[in-house]
Formats: sequence, C-alpha cells, structure tokens
Amino acid sequence: MSAGLERAPAWPHEDERHQAALEQALIRAFWQSIGRHPLPVMTALETAARVVGTLYGQVAQAHEGPGGCRCGWVPDPDCDLIVLEANLAAALLQPAPPSLARMQVAGQA
Ligand SMILES: [Zn+2]
Repeated sequence: MSAGLERAPAWPHEDERHQAALEQALIRAFWQSIGRHPLPVMTALETAARVVGTLYGQVAQAHEGPGGCRCGWVPDPDCDLIVLEANLAAALLQPAPPSLARMQVAGQA
C-alpha cells in the first residue's frame, strides 16, 4: 500500500508521533461509533479485533503482485499474528489511558 504505509521511517521519533496519531484516531472512531450505536461490551471489542484482521488482509493484499507496494515488507500471517497477539496482550496489561469517550468531538461528518 503506497499511500502512507512505509517500512522504515525517515525519523524514528516521527514514527512514534504517527503511531500515537493513528492510535488516537482509532480509539476516537471506536468511541464515536459506540456512542451512536451502543453494543454489548464483548461484541464491540470482538468487532474491533476483527477489524484489525481485516486491515491486515487489506495491507497484505496491497503487497502482492507486480503492482503491489515495494516497501520490502512481506506478509507472514503466522508470525505476524503472533506479533499482533503480543501487542494485544501488552495493551491489556498496561494501565488504561484516559478515555477518549468523554472528550469533545472536533467537527462533525
Ligand atoms: Zn509496503
């Protein structure tokens, strides 16, 4: 996927900033949707987890074939799943950050 996905950042510090921005955007989108369309807790979390799998599939597909992204990343679903699971487990063990659920939404769609 050439639009914004790159393997190695030019500046590691910038990469951390971009990771934080993506994380906040995803969290905000989750809470906005829950606010508008409430769901049982585990249904909502299972949906979010499934979306990560969907995103993985889309990114992997964007790296296939001659027209695919040339960043050098090669999808390895078995190993990548272990990394994704480890990140999920690590996030569960961290203290919860301040919730964005009660933050004011800037702008509207
Ligand atoms: Zn790529």
